[in-house]
Amino acid sequence: MSDLRHLVCRRLDPLTAYIPKPPAPIKLDANESPWPLPEEARTILAEALASLDLHRYPDPRATRLRALLAERHGGAADDYVVGVGSDEVICLLMQALSEPREGAAAASVLFPEPSFVMYRHNGIVCGMQPEGVPLARDFSLDVSAMAAAVVEHQPNLIFLASPNNPTGNAFTDEAITGVIDAAPRALVVIDEAYAPFAERSLASLVDEHPNVALMGTLSKVGLAGARVGFCRLPSSLAAHVDKARQPYNLSSLALCAAELALTGLSAVLDAQVAAIVEERRRLESALEKEPGIAPLPSAANFILTRVDGDAGAVAAALRQSDIGVRAFPPGGALTGHLRITVGTPDQNDALLAALPAALSTAANG
Ligand code: PMP
Repeated sequence: MSDLRHLVCRRLDPLTAYIPKPPAPIKLDANESPWPLPEEARTILAEALASLDLHRYPDPRATRLRALLAERHGGAADDYVVGVGSDEVICLLMQALSEPREGAAAASVLFPEPSFVMYRHNGIVCGMQPEGVPLARDFSLDVSAMAAAVVEHQPNLIFLASPNNPTGNAFTDEAITGVIDAAPRALVVIDEAYAPFAERSLASLVDEHPNVALMGTLSKVGLAGARVGFCRLPSSLAAHVDKARQPYNLSSLALCAAELALTGLSAVLDAQVAAIVEERRRLESALEKEPGIAPLPSAANFILTRVDGDAGAVAAALRQSDIGVRAFPPGGALTGHLRITVGTPDQNDALLAALPAALSTAANG
């Protein structure tokens, strides 16, 4: 058998495919909602799904979903591009807005680091030059470093996740507008995956600036399994970005679930989001009292926390108690940190009960 590895595009060499650890019984490692849909909501969803004509292709324009998104987040339905999660939306933006600047071999994409890892990963997959700019020591946005990087790299795209993953903090309005103003020739994509937990959105920035897009997802508010993400773009760009999309990227099943999430099920999902925010506050103050651990302020559905000693060992000890949290490869700005997704009250209690022993096991190594 011949080996065809030489056919693989060389720029994929530094990447690894995304293979998460097997899920722990108490799963606090992926920033999902810990709440399943309540029984009544499941019945509504089941009936809607059962009535679909699955022998037909879905609506290739996602007409109803985009109209509902416009109602909720502003702008016109035609300003929205939808994807299989915002992961796909990131790729669509990168594929469409990838024309190199004069004299450059590739277009570049800029983002702060640490931030969502798929900005770099998808940048490489899509043939863009990824440029990470370190966050300040307190994980705030370093606006002057971002502005200098804009001058140096002339990016086509800038991604700003606010609240940011994995640091959990929301960037200030001044910092975000500072980057927007420093990059009039780039599209600045505000990634609001976690905005529902920040209780405020930056959606109005799209109306105020011609170079801003707003990206969102249903994944964090209870529909991670449906895989639906979206982006509101400047009107002049939306139809161009939509050319990169496969005609039937969202299945009828996903469209149906997403439409219900924005209509008949929205009150249920909003209540779950409110419960997560309340639990985040409780978990934050409980962690603050725990010796050997120092949580950072969060506006998201997870908490980044410093731990004394080897964070990987603390995560491994928690795993022995059936609790999965996220540790990071040693060496970077996240060394000594754990990211803990906010769970149900019972799950958070289990975490708080297991933490002291996990911290001391790790310390005694
Ligand atoms: N943006 C950010 C900041 C994220 O953390 C994530 C998921 N972890 C995504 C986008 C992608 O979400 P999805 O593809 O599930 O919509």
